[in-house]
Amino acid sequence: MSTSTCYMQSEKCNIMAIVKDEMPVKGVVFRLDSDLPCEAKFLLEDFRLAVNNAVRAGLQARVTSRNVLVRIAYKGLRQQHPRMYSRHLASAFEVAGGVLKSYRRRVRKGGSCRISYVKRLMMKAENQAYKLDRKSGIIDLPIRAGCHVELRLIVSEYHRKYLDDTALSLGSLTLLPNRVIVAFRKDAPRLYFPESVLSLDTNERSLDGVFAKGNHVRSVKAEFTAIAMIQQWHHDRRKRFQRKKAHDRRISRRLCRREGTREHHRIEYRLHEIANSVISFAEDQRSAVVLEDLRGIRSKSSKELNRRLSIWPRRKLHQIIEYKAQWRGIPVVKVDPRNSSRTCPICGRIQDSRMGAEFVCECGWHLDRHINASINLLQTAISKGMAGGLRFNPGAFQHDVMMILYEPAMAARSEPNGTSGIVGVT
Ligand SMILES: [Zn+2]
Repeated sequence: MSTSTCYMQSEKCNIMAIVKDEMPVKGVVFRLDSDLPCEAKFLLEDFRLAVNNAVRAGLQARVTSRNVLVRIAYKGLRQQHPRMYSRHLASAFEVAGGVLKSYRRRVRKGGSCRISYVKRLMMKAENQAYKLDRKSGIIDLPIRAGCHVELRLIVSEYHRKYLDDTALSLGSLTLLPNRVIVAFRKDAPRLYFPESVLSLDTNERSLDGVFAKGNHVRSVKAEFTAIAMIQQWHHDRRKRFQRKKAHDRRISRRLCRREGTREHHRIEYRLHEIANSVISFAEDQRSAVVLEDLRGIRSKSSKELNRRLSIWPRRKLHQIIEYKAQWRGIPVVKVDPRNSSRTCPICGRIQDSRMGAEFVCECGWHLDRHINASINLLQTAISKGMAGGLRFNPGAFQHDVMMILYEPAMAARSEPNGTSGIVGVT
């Protein structure tokens, strides 16, 4: 294999294609210093009722747009909740609009037709409907005319980071029975001009890719085998519940739901760790990140295969990476992954099958299949001018150097229920 040049040009750059103009928003969770005052508890109940009434009105009139919803249902809702602060009533419509939209999306996709009324106690206040003193961490929340409550937040060092940052403005406030979520908004940071590229192919158990900078192209890897194991473990447990509690669907369903929540929490925690290591690497190296666009990928028809290849963690990982990158001004490029795992980056031949761990081409090129795919993703990004005018020659690939972006051992959080040990065995 030739080890000729791989060079990058910092000429005209076309990374604008990927800039989102919306403000990045970060929700920060605060605990409350004391129990919610009575008035606030009543407000939570009222708000939930108002949202569900609005959902019902929206379903009857077959609308999902918030504005239309307000037009047709505001009067009725005002009569049902004569004393509610009008801004809260308006945000009830917004929450209802969200519920209706996701319901419509689900129905269109042929999914569950159950209407998701809001069951949990919650309320959302838009940024002008509450006051937060960022020094003391005290929220002043109006309930109705002449009635306000004060909520004292517990502020840690982590929270201080957001409260003291003057570049962040306050967004909406979500009030739950035992906690408060404050949205912090930030002007979308200017994307830096990439000096290198990190191209990642997303697989079931790892991100594999290449990091190209100057004359060097190296392979990189971020492994997350634990995630597939966690999925497997919880899947087995769900199967067991379904068998044991076959006589009581209600219990079985409740146990399974709880299992699913735990699974999500455990996986999401790890996904954040992985995304953090990828993002901080990219930031240090001033890299553009190239990812495949997973939108077109459908799950297979067979149920068993469906679960094994569950695309959710990978999509979620992309979401987290994109969002963290947006917050820090790191350019991210999404490219169509079609044929990326069967194409030879040297001669361009497309192979019929994609089996085997190694990609071998008639022209003599051979490489780990996942890494080969990431090279193709990188080339697609470059050919579309989306990687900041960088150029790249796969011949410069250095086989002997592998950089580890993330290793499972780095997620050193022991789980008190001992499940991590069991996961290791299965
Ligand atoms: Zn070839």
